[in-house]
Amino acid sequence: MARFKRILLKLSGESLMGKQGYGIDPERLNDYAQQIKEVHDMGVQIGIVIGGGNIFRGLSGSQKGFDRVKGDQMGMCATVINSLALSSALEAIGTKAKVFTAIRMEPIGEFYSKWKAIEAMEHGAVAIMSAGTGNPYFTTDTGSSLRGIEIEADVMLKGTRVDGIYTADPEKEPTATKFSEITYDDIYKKGLKVMDLTATTMCKENNLPIYVFNMDVLGNLRKVILGEDIGTLVHN
Ligand code: UDP
Repeated sequence: MARFKRILLKLSGESLMGKQGYGIDPERLNDYAQQIKEVHDMGVQIGIVIGGGNIFRGLSGSQKGFDRVKGDQMGMCATVINSLALSSALEAIGTKAKVFTAIRMEPIGEFYSKWKAIEAMEHGAVAIMSAGTGNPYFTTDTGSSLRGIEIEADVMLKGTRVDGIYTADPEKEPTATKFSEITYDDIYKKGLKVMDLTATTMCKENNLPIYVFNMDVLGNLRKVILGEDIGTLVHN
């Protein structure tokens, strides 16, 4: 039995690179699509927000001389590219998907509204909500907190390449240990880097739990939906 009725899945753009140094790895893309199909077939309503870090990030662009606002707009366009790729991969395996954009750009995607996204999910499509919040100086983590709250998701599932939140960065500190659950307040107090503070605060203030897990292992999304303890739960 599925533990959640409606989820907001956040996928990082960077993970989409797979083994490549840049862009979209078709193998990783198809693995993601397969995992999403699995839980969609269980009847879970799915909203998705994808990052754009595999293509462009405004902040790193501005460090190289780009205007920050234009750089962020480029980053938002990158998330649209990733969203189109994911919708195409989902449709190819028979899962309906609809791309929404936070900035008007028909016919690439439909201009986002909460009600249109919910309607799409209730009619059996995966709603992919692209272009972040539509505003510069935000991240797709904040975009996914916002969309998760708006679409009244039961949880935000943050798919990463590590299997949860650790006392320190496990890739640098081998003695780091994993939390099975943690509160938002502890994240602030311990200075843990889970998401940026804007995104964390939005979830805290609106009581949206976050579940951090490793999305790069096939079958993990299904395990999370079934309630297996494979990641870290963040709550109030
Ligand atoms: N971005 C933005 N506003 C938003 C969401 C994203 O300006 O609401 C831009 C920002 O430049 C960001 C880029 O889009 O660096 C890609 O998103 P992000 O860095 O969150 O992607 P990820 O790290 O998840 O791949």
